[in-house]
Amino acid sequence: MSIFDLDLTDSQIMMRDVCRKFVDNTIAPFLKDNWEVEWQMSPEDRMPSHILEESDKIGIRTLGVPEEYGGTPLEKNQEVRTFAIISEEIARGDSGLADKLVQNWKVSVLLRELANKDHQKKWFEKLMSDPSFLFAHALTEPKGASDRWLGYNAPEAAMDTKAVKVDGGWVINGRKHYISNGYDAGLYVIYANTSPGLGMMQGTSSFIVPRDTEGFRVARCNETVGCRFMNNGELELIDCFVPDENLLCEGTALNKAGIYFRPGKIIQAAKNLGVGQSALEKTAEYVQTYSRGGRLLIKHQVVASRLADMATKVTAVRSLVMKAAQAVDMKSEDAEALCNMSKVFASQEILHVCQNAMELHGGMGAMLDVGIEKLMRDASIFLHMDATVDISHFKIVKALWPENAGIYAGPEN
Ligand SMILES: Cc1cc2nc3c(=O)[nH]c(=O)nc-3n(C[C@H](O)[C@H](O)[C@H](O)COP(=O)(O)OP(=O)(O)OC[C@H]3O[C@@H](n4cnc5c(N)ncnc54)[C@H](O)[C@@H]3O)c2cc1C
Repeated sequence: MSIFDLDLTDSQIMMRDVCRKFVDNTIAPFLKDNWEVEWQMSPEDRMPSHILEESDKIGIRTLGVPEEYGGTPLEKNQEVRTFAIISEEIARGDSGLADKLVQNWKVSVLLRELANKDHQKKWFEKLMSDPSFLFAHALTEPKGASDRWLGYNAPEAAMDTKAVKVDGGWVINGRKHYISNGYDAGLYVIYANTSPGLGMMQGTSSFIVPRDTEGFRVARCNETVGCRFMNNGELELIDCFVPDENLLCEGTALNKAGIYFRPGKIIQAAKNLGVGQSALEKTAEYVQTYSRGGRLLIKHQVVASRLADMATKVTAVRSLVMKAAQAVDMKSEDAEALCNMSKVFASQEILHVCQNAMELHGGMGAMLDVGIEKLMRDASIFLHMDATVDISHFKIVKALWPENAGIYAGPEN
């Protein structure tokens, strides 16, 4: 169901339709027949490899890879909107699968903009040739992530993960946690402090770390409430040596990560929108086929009112996400505020949509084999991804009223 014209280009419509068919013909039947596999405690046994392989065949694993390395050409001034459209469609099938794939898009954009040609050739070719290959982006560590999102630029907020310059390269020590694709990825972009004493905006560098680097270890797979087909991981670096050429950005890596953050917030918000769209579609069908009190549920006014509220919220989130995507595509100065608005709005509104879906399905909404509670779990996880709700609010205020927005972090007086 789409109740307003998104003004999509022909190629966006084509990609959306291919993706929708893949979700309806492959993902939905897989989940219906295998609802219990997301609860496997061995991460390798959750999503079968053929799902990733089929995603690869329709080109949605490698968006963002430049054409010269075999990537799908996307209209340049529409790229982030295209990401949003495809992200929504995949997540309408499964949010965890979408999460797995979109990390590749986000890191590909970062590498495309920052990595040297040798790295681009090596890693894009590897990504293109191996359908199981995934990227990960590792910023968060046990010391916390909100200070990075805020840009709390004081030495005491610097990362605990440190990289020290040695002859011919860098030695990294530290720990990263809550990392999407952390358990499965073949290549990681890792952030570390390289100038103790400086604020993080001047003293943070990023490094390309292949999975098989000595001193690098995937410490564990985190068991999460939702998006369980994306294996979130914890990473450990002990005296991990990387050569000079693996330095992606020295000193100002957090500023440069902006290349990743803005499209990233849109992609993630669109992903949550897909979860809401699925909740809306399933609930609309249910209330039009199930009767109580002698009539179809939809003919009870209170049910109709809730359904209208769900449709309104999904439509409002989609409008904001597409507006924000357009702002990023156009490099508009409103992009910063709009990205954070779409992230926070999508995280809160879609959770309400999923709550209504659960309530309108009655007891069935709580049954694991039906899949409605899964939508609520998948939506809840997004509250914490790409900055928390409150930190996103701070960022919106800072973007709109930069002179007088105040200081949101620092020592207590
Ligand atoms: C499923 C999932 C996937 C993720 N994937 C990745 C990934 O791929 N890469 C990556 O680097 N990270 C990833 N993260 C980490 C995510 O970005 C962080 O969890 C998130 O930004 C919050 O940081 P935190 O967990 O350190 O919470 P904290 O920063 O410890 O925050 C805890 C609470 O304190 C509040 N708070 C913090 N600072 C302030 C302040 N100054 N004023 C007021 N309130 C404040 C926060 O709003 C929050 O409510 C992922 C997280 C999840 C859950």
